[in-house]
Amino acid sequence: MAKKNHIPKASEVFRNSEHFFSNLSSKVTFSEAFPEINDIKVEVIETSEPKTNEMLKEEKYQKNKVIYEKLIGEFIDCSNKFCYNGGFSIGEIIREMVSIKQTLIEGHLKCQGYEGSAKGKRRYRSCVHCFYFHVEIKYK
Ligand SMILES: [Zn+2]
Repeated sequence: MAKKNHIPKASEVFRNSEHFFSNLSSKVTFSEAFPEINDIKVEVIETSEPKTNEMLKEEKYQKNKVIYEKLIGEFIDCSNKFCYNGGFSIGEIIREMVSIKQTLIEGHLKCQGYEGSAKGKRRYRSCVHCFYFHVEIKYK
């Protein structure tokens, strides 16, 4: 049987190598993009539909929590295998925090992708995955 077409995620649409951030027109490493950051911790829980904070405390969601430290790229990808360009820009969140020297943020975003044909040419429906994030930054 032929292998199914791979559907690229947000990070792949954005770039081919890992751990690179966008800095306007160029792509740079995390520490080049954010020289003022000493330490960062990003926790993300991805769900297949919107959940309340109360629901997210349940073990089944907590065990899906992914913790990223410095090795993080511009995008965190969506795990929905039918989703094209799926994920969200953690880079945008970090840039906003840095601009006001914010140390902690919690929030959620819907996946930016959509379910469609393999190359993203046809769009069937928006992806319903959600990302609940918690970001802590320690500045230099
Ligand atoms: Zn998605």
